[in-house]
Amino acid sequence: MEKISNFIGGEFRPPVSGQYLDNFEPAKGAVYSQLPDSDSRDVVHAIDAAEKAFPSWSKTPRETRSAMLMKLSALILENLELLAQAESKDSGKPISLARILDIPRSAQNFSFFAKAIMEFQGEIFKTENVAVNHTDFSPLGVVTCISPWNLPLYLFSWKIAPALITGNCVVAKPSEVTPMTAYILARLSVEAGLPPGVLNIVHGLGEKLGPELVQNKKIKAVSFTGSTRVGLEISKMAAPHFKKVSLEMGGKNPHLIFADCDFDNAVKTAVRAAFLNQGQICLCGSRILVEKSIYEKFKKAFIEATGKLKQGDPSQDNVDQGSLVSQAHYEKVLGCIATAEKEGGKILLGGQAFKAPAPFDKGWFVSPTIIEGLGPQCKTNQEEIFGPVATLQSFETEEEAIELANSTRYGLAASLWTEDRDKANRVAKHLESGIVWTNCWMLRDLRTPFGGVKDSGVGREGGEYALRFFSDIKNICVKI
Ligand code: NAD
Repeated sequence: MEKISNFIGGEFRPPVSGQYLDNFEPAKGAVYSQLPDSDSRDVVHAIDAAEKAFPSWSKTPRETRSAMLMKLSALILENLELLAQAESKDSGKPISLARILDIPRSAQNFSFFAKAIMEFQGEIFKTENVAVNHTDFSPLGVVTCISPWNLPLYLFSWKIAPALITGNCVVAKPSEVTPMTAYILARLSVEAGLPPGVLNIVHGLGEKLGPELVQNKKIKAVSFTGSTRVGLEISKMAAPHFKKVSLEMGGKNPHLIFADCDFDNAVKTAVRAAFLNQGQICLCGSRILVEKSIYEKFKKAFIEATGKLKQGDPSQDNVDQGSLVSQAHYEKVLGCIATAEKEGGKILLGGQAFKAPAPFDKGWFVSPTIIEGLGPQCKTNQEEIFGPVATLQSFETEEEAIELANSTRYGLAASLWTEDRDKANRVAKHLESGIVWTNCWMLRDLRTPFGGVKDSGVGREGGEYALRFFSDIKNICVKI
């Protein structure tokens, strides 16, 4: 059985403890590899290796760093099939999704930041006849990047690319639930020419590694993507040290459908937004709010289109829905569906585990589930489920739609559907959300600010926002 290693100081190393954790193929519910059960000693080794590499890496010309990340991007594309298969096996997601989304976007994360750095420069402020100020960016030092399991390589690379390109050395911790593609990336980073210690990857349990990753005095910043619960933990650990933190957390995103929308497109996209990656994307539209006059028509079309999603062996090209990522998550999602029923929700579709034929009969599949009849304040409409579960609610006025959309503690992404541009702009302005998509969903331009408000996030990723996060900014004032 394959044993994943940590990647520290350019070497593949076993964990200091010698202990390993089981890594599962969730579509089969079976162990297929093992990953290091690292502890704080491994983190300290990684931080020391990063610290040693920093003086040279931070002085390396940006053109050289950029060329290495471009090479890494090209290597990811050269190994697309290998990485897509690894991602699908490790997470249960359909291979088609890994091929068209996860892996190409991981490559793009590196090439995007490799290019963006060439445009990244300070500002000049002239105080007429008195002084000229100019801002200067410098790398922070050693930084921590912690990522989740839902888009494993995609979100891992989304953090480490801007950290590395700005001259920082990185200690990265991928999710213990999906460690495989980060392990493969370590091998590719050697091929791309990244010097030893510039990128270090420590595998293991978050709660065991978190305190050292966040509180170690040599760590200058922590970039985290994951649940709001863990984001809060990280915030608390970082606060006494005044560390820079970027927190990308949970969502309970509203999908607003107005009667004057492009109906067919709205239905098609609502299905994608609710169920892509089995609903395990922080941006998924899990609360679908529909104008009353088209509620029944929308409901019928939405159920019909969702019912056509093909579920099963994620390695098959024609499968739309794979398994959930782990047994724990599968049980959580089924528990949420049971809660929805107890709250009085009516299951319109799904509502139970899906039994795939052998060898997938022990896999952690849940059927796409649609629920109606629940008020906005119930648990089902308040708490993130992060699975293939969407609820339908209706509204009568624009004001009511906005109130419903804003009625949770989250504020990551919203999608709204109307052909009336003025209405779209009015509603978008009032939505408490870091991102609003009008007549689309998950349409990304990597230069734009990405992140949430309220309990969904602190700070923004993307383009110059990420480059600034990973830099110290100094203002230099010169008197004329
Ligand atoms: P999680 O919070 O359980 O884990 C995320 C990462 O944090 C993992 O690597 C984990 O090992 C680590 N971790 C756990 N406890 C830790 C601790 N005490 N200290 C430091 N690190 C710790 O999240 P998950 O279950 O892996 O992912 C699902 C969540 O991520 C959902 O809430 C989803 O909305 C969120 N998410 C948010 C975004 C975004 O951009 N806002 C993107 C993807 C996923």
